[in-house]
Amino acid sequence: MARKKKEAVTEAHVPVVTERSLAFFEQYINNPSPTGFEWSGQRMWLDYLKPFVDDTFTDHYGTAVGVINPGKDFKVVIEAHADEISWFVNYITKDGLIYVIRNGGSDHQIAPSKRVNIHTDKGIVKAVFGWPAIHTRGGEKEEGPSMKNIFLDCGCTSIEEVEALNIHVGTVVTYEDEFMVLNDRYYVGRALDNRAGGFMIAEVARLLSENKVKLPYSLYIVNAVQEEIGLRGAEMIAHRIQPDVAIVTDVTHDTQTPMINKITQGDLACGKGPVLSYAPSVQINLNRLLVGTAEKQGIPFQRQASSRTTGTDTDAFAYSNSGVPSALISLPLRYMHTTVEMIHKHDVDHVIRLIYETLLALEVGQDFRTFAK
Ligand SMILES: [Zn+2]
Repeated sequence: MARKKKEAVTEAHVPVVTERSLAFFEQYINNPSPTGFEWSGQRMWLDYLKPFVDDTFTDHYGTAVGVINPGKDFKVVIEAHADEISWFVNYITKDGLIYVIRNGGSDHQIAPSKRVNIHTDKGIVKAVFGWPAIHTRGGEKEEGPSMKNIFLDCGCTSIEEVEALNIHVGTVVTYEDEFMVLNDRYYVGRALDNRAGGFMIAEVARLLSENKVKLPYSLYIVNAVQEEIGLRGAEMIAHRIQPDVAIVTDVTHDTQTPMINKITQGDLACGKGPVLSYAPSVQINLNRLLVGTAEKQGIPFQRQASSRTTGTDTDAFAYSNSGVPSALISLPLRYMHTTVEMIHKHDVDHVIRLIYETLLALEVGQDFRTFAK
């Protein structure tokens, strides 16, 4: 990577995200979308996408798809995941306190003192993750938050009162934290992982539509459910669409803040551009197309290597059907799976541009094999 070039690009940064699209992003982030319960966010996303695509469809589990130029033999997917980590109500005590289990990789360490929304069939019930006062904790050896001791208090003193609020085992719970912009530089919020991705692929569709691009292939803009519990929505929709190429976007860790080891986690930073991945599931020639496109268009990028799997929907697409050439464009993010996830505005613009330019560079019937016979 040419450092000088990168700086020049940063100085001349032209935003892609408009005021109107940012308003949608804020609304989309503030709307909860727990794994397995994504429908209200999916509806909102499809409503935003509809003017930019020719067709839309959904599947039984809630994955939402927009299609540009349907009906062609060659099919390209751009994909993100729609679900956010959350909690399930697991056990209600006779005194009306609620214990939870994870739905996705929710972090027990950040739970104490957080306010939550409990999503009942009859609407939202407020609660808090309680925690014993510093005065009452006894001193010597402090017990940290764990799945065995964090609990919700919804202001009830009996299980009957809790049940009267329509809370039952299996009701989902999300944090109430909302979107903000920090120092005019970062977007901050809950579950930017990976609804920033859903936003970015929708923005790609907007650009294609506004620039009146005529694609020679069918493009599927896919917002998949259930990534956080094992790439499940992507598995289902990859089988259904049977694409020829899949470009996935998700988040990855910025490693510039304390207590993260660059030796094991790599050296990645918010603001330095999209992250391109080297992993067995990332098809090498498709990845070269991404790298070449970034270089040609002056889009800054960073590199990451992954052992075995990327842990993203890329793996689900790559290993679907008879093997689908797949690649990953990641957005660097600070504080993953907390309520204050942070992404850099410029990175969002650059991911959108990189996906857009790659789609323009992609040829129908492109052969990604490293050798033919
Ligand atoms: Zn995640």
